[in-house]
Amino acid sequence: MAAAAKPNLAGMSLQKLEAFLAELGEKPFRARQLMKWIHQRGVIDINAMTDISKSLREKLKLVAELKLPTIVEEISSEDGSRKWILEVASGSRVEMVFIPEAGRGTLCISSQAGCSLDCSFCATGKQGFNSNLSAAEIIGQLYWVNQKLGGFKEKTERPVSNVVMMGMGEPLLNFDNVIDAVNIMMEDCAYGLSKRKVTISTSGVVPAIDKLKDYTDASLAISLHAPNDDLRSKIMPINKKYPISELIRAVKGYMASLPDKRVPVIEYTLIAGINDHRQHARDLTDLLVQLPCKINLIPFNPFSLSDYRRPSNASISNFRKILQDAGYTVTVRTTRAYDIGAACGQLTGTVQDRTRRSDRIRLKSPAVDKKAKMQDSTAILAQLADRI
Ligand code: SF4
Repeated sequence: MAAAAKPNLAGMSLQKLEAFLAELGEKPFRARQLMKWIHQRGVIDINAMTDISKSLREKLKLVAELKLPTIVEEISSEDGSRKWILEVASGSRVEMVFIPEAGRGTLCISSQAGCSLDCSFCATGKQGFNSNLSAAEIIGQLYWVNQKLGGFKEKTERPVSNVVMMGMGEPLLNFDNVIDAVNIMMEDCAYGLSKRKVTISTSGVVPAIDKLKDYTDASLAISLHAPNDDLRSKIMPINKKYPISELIRAVKGYMASLPDKRVPVIEYTLIAGINDHRQHARDLTDLLVQLPCKINLIPFNPFSLSDYRRPSNASISNFRKILQDAGYTVTVRTTRAYDIGAACGQLTGTVQDRTRRSDRIRLKSPAVDKKAKMQDSTAILAQLADRI
């Protein structure tokens, strides 16, 4: 019988680390020391943690591990964006994208290997689903970007100011691990990111949104993509289970629970001929009257397994103008990292699909599959970055 895995120190929130150390008879301040070594100095060799007694280091090596996902590939875009592909314990490969901009650096990270939700416009969904990432595999993405870009050097400004959970997977279907990772991101003795700058993005897992306030006060983004249930259910199957009215109720509840004044970001991917008509924009303005929010329009980024098309610039402008004229703050996401396969909705990684969805798609369209393989070999991540 295989030995049970040891608890991984890299993925423990401060609270969990304190509880773990208490079981070993250690004081709570040791947890802060450990977190600083791992998440502020980037040290993952327990032997090198010199202000921790030798006896505790030896004990930790016996009862725990300190393990992060492995980076297997790194690709740079002409626009300065960087994408890393990581191998996780399940054997799947997931992707993360770093997008530097004037005054900020945004990291888009993955929460699952693949995704079970099958939104029709998303390359990740076409890969099927393999596994949830562990908390260490989620926070490990932020760790590695800091390690790669010099963020652990003393007196150096950290490269990542914002984290968005908009990579592969539905974060709220991996609730516990995502919450642990988000708490580490915002912890002072770890990465110390502002709650305004850590965003959980969800397609609308209503029961999880309902309980979110008891675990975090991170920011929220909602993948809406349609102004009514009929259309949303066609392009996002999760809407059949949790319709828009339920989703808006849950989001309002979460926003009301936050101590400061914040609004959610509504993500709306514009797909030519599907959800980009002027009437869709007008319906959206009516729908969102009940929910103070900002709207982020994302022109669809084509990928080989989809027949959807990107709308014309005129169509995008018209849609935006209708929303702006109704008083909404609207941004149109600039496509970044497209040349490295990391623009929004293009992230695929290499998922050992347990749902067989990817097989069914390939059987249905073998010609597309050949084209897909060619494209995905050069542009694996392209859909993630544009969701930021
Ligand atoms: S858009 Fe998000 S929830 Fe939908 S299939 Fe893609 S990763 Fe999953």
